[in-house]
Order: sequence, then structure tokens, then C-alpha cells
Amino acid sequence: MSPRMSRRDFVKTSAAAGVLAAGPAAAQAPAVASRSARPVVVSSANGNQYKNGGAKTCVQEAFDRMVKGEDVLDALIAGVNIVELDPLDDSVGYGGLPNGEGVVQLDASCMHGPRKRAGAVACLEGVRMPSKVAQAVMDQTDHHLLVGQGAQDFARQVGFAIEDDLNTENSRQQWLEWKRRLDPSRWLDPQKRSEESWRVTRELMAEGRIDPSHVYGTINCNGVNAKGEVCGVTTTSGLAWKIPGRVGDSPILGAGLYVDGDVGAAGSTGRGEANLYGLSSYLIVENMRRGMSPKDAGMDALKRVKAATIEKRLLNSKGEPRFYVKFYIVNRKGEYAGVGMYARQDGKDQTFAVCTEKGPETLNLEGLLGEAASE
Ligand code: ASP
Repeated sequence: MSPRMSRRDFVKTSAAAGVLAAGPAAAQAPAVASRSARPVVVSSANGNQYKNGGAKTCVQEAFDRMVKGEDVLDALIAGVNIVELDPLDDSVGYGGLPNGEGVVQLDASCMHGPRKRAGAVACLEGVRMPSKVAQAVMDQTDHHLLVGQGAQDFARQVGFAIEDDLNTENSRQQWLEWKRRLDPSRWLDPQKRSEESWRVTRELMAEGRIDPSHVYGTINCNGVNAKGEVCGVTTTSGLAWKIPGRVGDSPILGAGLYVDGDVGAAGSTGRGEANLYGLSSYLIVENMRRGMSPKDAGMDALKRVKAATIEKRLLNSKGEPRFYVKFYIVNRKGEYAGVGMYARQDGKDQTFAVCTEKGPETLNLEGLLGEAASE
């Protein structure tokens, strides 16, 4: 993985490259001027972390395929497949942290800008690469979203192998530990249950058993090729320990992913409920359509999420959201941004991944707020 850049370096480099230009002129300019673009793939940070035993990360694989002329969406999906299959990322695909009953249920969506087609699956069990099933929904049906048993039946019918259980030893052990520590009377009033569940989850994170970025955790990956063709994909095992049947933002068009081939793409990781409420990815793409830079478009969505967060249980000691949401954004010209509610959490800079002709990099994202307050 490339060494991380400081926020200052990133801002400097980005400004020098004309990326994230946020001056008044840039904000006024139409998001898209011509069809040609600077090819780029942008994703959540895990897109430049996991290799599933191979040589390349997701953004590298996707970028290399894209510049060789492969269809942009095919290239992105080949990239996220690396993360879906890697058991070390327990937030995506095989080995993703399971739901409250110990079952791995996966969500994924994809959108093809030039073809103006989309597909998604939710609560899919037994298939390691839900992004490929989402693509099959897009290519082989007239529908946009299949869920649960129907999604699995469809996957089987079109030739996917269905496995009994997508847990790895790690994800099962983490679930058992969560279960063991949780107040055994599971049907407490919802407020108490959610407080307890959060307390236990924080405990597991503090002990280093669970990577904090994997409680929520997902990969969103968006790309644009030299012809200005934009596509995107989001895939996840969703919120750890979720109520069975819970669907997050990832498979919902406009929430966890939105692509408009004439404008750009945006996708998210983090608290899905927050993005579902505000249809954040759609908002970001619409902001870019109206001329905002990727960074400004994303910051605006973060402000909306913050403003919509008024319930006490969702606020930290400073009265700010006690969860994160992050957006990965590219416009049709190849300008990109990674933005998040917080620039730093637990003393760590928050990051995203990008691949250009310079190769894969992990960059610090721009936070709406600075350091996330401890509880
Ligand atoms: N957004 C995903 C969900 O809510 C999880 C995540 O990205 O962390 O299901």
C-alpha cells in the first residue's frame, strides 16, 4: 500500500493536479465540459488494502483493466471481487460479519453510466460475490433489485454456486463473542437493546477484536475511463449483528450508490440508515449536475446528514453524529474526492483509495468535522 499522505500534502497535490478545485470559478463551471476524461478509480480505503493473496488491490486491478479497454463496470466489479473474496476483510462478501442470528447476508448494487442500467441484490445469502449477482440482475432481468430467497434463487438459476454458510472461523467467533456478551434477554425495549448492543460492540473494538472500520464497512468503487464513461459498484455484508432482513444503503440506488453517465458517480460507506434517509449519493450526483465540484457536492450531503441527525441516541458528547458516513465521488471529467463526517477518528486520519496513471494511493479524506468525539 502506498504511504499515506498528510491532509496538507493531499490538498496541495490535489490542487496542483487540478483535482478538488473548489474556488468560485470551479464551483460555477458545469460539471462536465467534454467527453474526454482523466481515467481514475476511486473507492473506500479497503480498495487499496486487501489483495486476497494476489498481487493487486481493488483500485489497481480495476484501473488496469479499465485502461486496457475493458468495460468500466466489468473492471470495477473485478476489482471489488478481490475484496469480497478476501476473508481478511470481514465487512464485505465471504467472511463478512454476520447478522444478529449469525447468518452472513450480503447487499450489493451496480450502475452502468453509458448503458443507463442498474442492478442490485439485498439480504442475499450463500454467494461470495454479491456484486456479480447484482450485475446479473442488471444484465439478465428487467428489474433493479432482488432480495432474500428470491435473490438467491435467481443466483442459482443463472449459475452461481450457493454455499451453506459464508462465515469464516473469524466472523463466527466474533459473532459468538458478541452473542455471549449481549444481555441474554434479547427482547428488551428497543432503546435498551440498542444501547447494550453498541456498548458491547465498542468493547470488542476497544479490545482490538473487531476493526472499528468493519462494524460498518463496505466497498464502494467508482471509475471513469478516458472516454468519460462512468460506472460504480457497492458491495457489503452490511452492519454487523443487524436484525435479519435489514437492508442498508448499499443496494439502494440513490443511497449507497448513484451513477449518472452524463455527470458522475457517488457511493458511500458508513451508517446506511443515514444515507437512506437523505438519498445521499443521488444528492451528490445532482449537486455535481448543478456545477458543484465533487468535494463540495459531498460536503453538502454530509451537512444534510448532520442536520438530519437529531435523535439523542445518535449523538455523541459534543452533540455531533456518533457514527461515520463517507462518500467516494468522481465526475465525468475524472475529478474526484473522498469526504467523510470526520477527518479523524480515534486519532487516526480517515482515508480513501484512488488509482490514476500514477498508481494506487491511499489518501486522507476531507472531513466535514475534525476529530470524532469519544462517546
Ligand atoms: N453502509 C453499509 C450499511 O449500512 C455499511 C457500511 O458501509 O459500513 O449496510
